[in-house]
Amino acid sequence: MTDSFQAPRGTLDWLPPRSGARRAMIGAFAARAERAGFREAQTPVFEEQGLFARTAGASSEVVGKEMYVFTDQGDRELALRPEFTAGIVRAYLEHGLSREAQPVRLWSAGSCYRYAAVQRGRYREFTQVNAEAIGSDDPAVDAELIALQVGWFRELGLEGLAVRLNTIGDRADREPYLALLRAFLDKHLGDVADDVRRQRDLNPLRAFDTKDPASQAVMAQAPVIADHVGAEAAAHFDRVREFLDARGIAYVLDPTLVRGLDYYSRTTWEVAWPELGAQSGIGGGGRYDGLAELIGGPPTPGVGFACGVERVLLALAAQERLPGVAPRCDAFFMVLADAARPTLHALMEAARDRGLACEADLAGRAAKGQIKQADRVGAARTVVCGDDEWARRVCLVRDMTSGEQIEVALDDLVGHLADLAGGAQA
Ligand code: AMP
Repeated sequence: MTDSFQAPRGTLDWLPPRSGARRAMIGAFAARAERAGFREAQTPVFEEQGLFARTAGASSEVVGKEMYVFTDQGDRELALRPEFTAGIVRAYLEHGLSREAQPVRLWSAGSCYRYAAVQRGRYREFTQVNAEAIGSDDPAVDAELIALQVGWFRELGLEGLAVRLNTIGDRADREPYLALLRAFLDKHLGDVADDVRRQRDLNPLRAFDTKDPASQAVMAQAPVIADHVGAEAAAHFDRVREFLDARGIAYVLDPTLVRGLDYYSRTTWEVAWPELGAQSGIGGGGRYDGLAELIGGPPTPGVGFACGVERVLLALAAQERLPGVAPRCDAFFMVLADAARPTLHALMEAARDRGLACEADLAGRAAKGQIKQADRVGAARTVVCGDDEWARRVCLVRDMTSGEQIEVALDDLVGHLADLAGGAQA
């Protein structure tokens, strides 16, 4: 009843049949990440509000305007996680993961929360799959992450992706560049929108994110950070590109790509599926070598990405490529003798224990209705037990494809079904 404040009605993907596709997609992500050495990490849905404020930077949209913040009964200021990275790095620092072999690679999937203007592809509760590699500044790690993300999209069959890539250098490179950018903005303050003027003092890099066409035209003339990165960051970026090129991963260099959170350094990237329109970003990531220090830890390099599961679902649905999740039903139990139901339901449970998918009528349907229901669930066979069969402690097992039917003693039913299903699978 309250779904509509989180997402417009009809766009929720949490219910069948979309919920099956969602789980299959997340399952494919988990399996792919684990093949690449990532392990699952689950962090709390709510954390101390300061964790996100310190790390994302007060100028970020997410922290400034979009965070769900509340005070609990112990007077703690908490926030629903707007993203995974800060919580994962906090967990890495608090739970001794820095003593394991580096980089520690972790994947996660779950809900994130942002008080954003709801529209197609943009919800207040949404799902991210996320991957982080913490503890190595090797450029091969940046490429591993990008390859994992792009590889997942490829595995899902998503075509027509646009990958944009940039480097924003190290923090030390940024100050002299920001001075240049502020000077540029000062010259054009009269020609840009209010949000851009505000960013001049908060975080001038964000001026590039403006949606206002006139401001965008101004920003197209602005100095870009990629021209002002130091030698080390530039060499790192060249090497990342070499790793990507060797893997045949296509990308476009975009010197204006700065990403929304303050903690990024060096490599940044975004993946879009342009046909989604206004909310076309299906994933983004970057290196965040300064983040651990913002949380009170020692200098620790890291790189990671997140993808929006609902947007990927929208893109796959538009391409008619939602992962198929046809539910399986090995046997539908048509119990027409009321006295037989408890025994037949017990046999059904025993068959489930053997790994078979079984259902029975649970709504008092007459014979015709039960046949229809068996059809609806795509049952491979029916188990029929009417008064006559029950009196003889037998049932009829009918193959729904061939129409063949045999009589089986109830005592032998579970073994018989298991043999049939085993034979069918072999
Ligand atoms: P970000 O953490 O902002 O880089 O977001 C990573 C990805 O999460 C984006 O590329 C989107 O696919 C997805 N995403 C971000 N915000 C939302 C939202 N409000 N609703 C749905 N998906 C979102």
